[in-house]
Amino acid sequence: MEFQKVIHLLYVPTKYCNMNCKYCYLGEMTESKPEPDKILGTLDTALAQLLDHGYLPFNLSFHGGEVTTLPSHILDSLFATAARHYAMYGEQIKSQGFQVNPLHIKTNLLNFQKHWDIFIKHHISISGSVDLPLRLHEQFRRDKKGLSTLKRIQDNLKALTAYPYNKKISCVVTRAHFEAVDEFIDAVKYLHYDIGLDMSRFNIMFGFDSAKQRNKIAGTEMLNDAEQVKFYRAIKKAFIRTPLENAFKTEWFKEFTPDFCCSSVNCGGKFFLLQSNGSVFSCPRGQSSEDYCYGNIYKDDIETIISNGWSNIERNENCMAIDDECERCEYIHYCNLGCTFVRQESGLKKSYTCLLQKELYRNNPNRYPPLTVENISRYAQQFFLSNNIQRLQDFHVEKQHFVTPELSLESNWLSEIIHRDANLRALYSDDLFFLRVNGVNYRLHSAILKNAGHIEVLDAESEVLLGVRKDIFGLACNDEVNNYLHLMLLRDTAVVYGDEQRFKQEHIFDYSLYKNAFMAASWVEGKYALLDITPLLVSHAQFYLDGVKNNLFFTTKALRKYHYGKQKKNAFYHIQAINLPFQNIDFFWERRKY
Ligand code: SF4
Ligand code: SF4
Ligand code: SF4
Repeated sequence: MEFQKVIHLLYVPTKYCNMNCKYCYLGEMTESKPEPDKILGTLDTALAQLLDHGYLPFNLSFHGGEVTTLPSHILDSLFATAARHYAMYGEQIKSQGFQVNPLHIKTNLLNFQKHWDIFIKHHISISGSVDLPLRLHEQFRRDKKGLSTLKRIQDNLKALTAYPYNKKISCVVTRAHFEAVDEFIDAVKYLHYDIGLDMSRFNIMFGFDSAKQRNKIAGTEMLNDAEQVKFYRAIKKAFIRTPLENAFKTEWFKEFTPDFCCSSVNCGGKFFLLQSNGSVFSCPRGQSSEDYCYGNIYKDDIETIISNGWSNIERNENCMAIDDECERCEYIHYCNLGCTFVRQESGLKKSYTCLLQKELYRNNPNRYPPLTVENISRYAQQFFLSNNIQRLQDFHVEKQHFVTPELSLESNWLSEIIHRDANLRALYSDDLFFLRVNGVNYRLHSAILKNAGHIEVLDAESEVLLGVRKDIFGLACNDEVNNYLHLMLLRDTAVVYGDEQRFKQEHIFDYSLYKNAFMAASWVEGKYALLDITPLLVSHAQFYLDGVKNNLFFTTKALRKYHYGKQKKNAFYHIQAINLPFQNIDFFWERRKY
């Protein structure tokens, strides 16, 4: 059979727990009594329905409440069901790239020895939770009647050392553990070296403040992330260069790496917890909140439940605000802001172990290379698209400016537009004018096409002759007698013009000389007519400022009109010829000689 998806499935055969830990996030839920008649049937039914719809549980574990409060024969049957599942689907699990794990339970260890034979029979992998140092276990992890569990736990820890199959212990760290970090370290050493319990498989978790425990017991408060890092560094200092160094590096803080559900973009796509009444939740944490309930196998069809997994987590994510720092974080792709449930319960806007995660990533840069700035933004947008659509609107604020991409098409380049238009070719031509200053000729080019130009220094003694191509009055014009040579002088002192409110060079004068007058005042030299413009320049000398550039343009009435007409007709031309396009020369005026 082809499976469309592999999932983690935790089965909670009972929510009841025989302990009453002070920091338990399940609250009164652990008081509910088991319903033995449903325990086996629910697991069978769920497995059959899941497999039937193409969902393959590749990791099947048992969780509480407390699994070991059930009678041994029920555990035996449950484990047999799980073993059958692995036997039947082990090959498919492997073909999907996963290993077939041993059957696994999470337990508080109180009844561990009671079920010893059943555990041995099914090679059960045991994950036991304790408080370290053990004096805090005495304080926080008492039974339902408030009695000490310490003696039994110590005995069971010793028994666990002799247990021949997989075993590990885990430990929740809150303020009291943080304040007793040296004792915590001693306790780890005691278990490993004195009792002989292999601590290379040990998990540290950090407690968090949840809605179920508004009246916090002193010592069970959650640590802030700076304190978590301090705790981590104390552990590091104690175990680096010891036989437990590798365990510290690879196992003890693994929960805060991308290997765990907390680092998923949406854990609801893969992680499911089934209760014996048929209700499906996200995980042990989530089973304390209806927001993390995906449905019930006795009331809802499997496809709905599976799709609720993804959509409920997405909905929960979208109800929360996000810390601005995450949007810029180079590790966002490993972290994905951590556990949705913890953020919702604690009211934080980012992962409650943010700093610790960053420390873990930075300590292992080969495994966790950071994102580049460009990729952070790209990843964050994808993340917000599913988890915080509100935030995405910040990324996509209305455009503040727009330039049509057509502008960059070669056919719309200014050079192409000029090339296609005979009048523009004439208007922009670089043999239309030249300037002869004190006997030296300068060919004049269009002010917007040239990349370099001459800057002259003139004074009252300078002789300035303007050479004008003789056919100029017929360009873009069929009424030559009405056409004139047009000179415009601008000065590099900025003024604000028009609706555009542009800062532009200040206009000093316009000078127009009609064709016939020009012809009378000029003399011919080859294909040019020369006009002495020295008197014109000198007569405006009072407007030339020391150290300020002046800018003299040359064109005709007809070419100027053609330019503005073209601007009206062609937006691509207009935008590229927004500044005066005519031939020009810049000059400074030397006043000393005047
Ligand atoms: S052992 Fe686990 S489920 Fe039981 S009270 Fe303690 S934390 Fe809660
Ligand atoms: S709610 Fe948190 S703990 Fe539960 S599956 Fe999602 S990420 Fe994991
Ligand atoms: S590591 Fe911290 S800042 Fe970075 S994404 Fe995670 S929670 Fe946000």
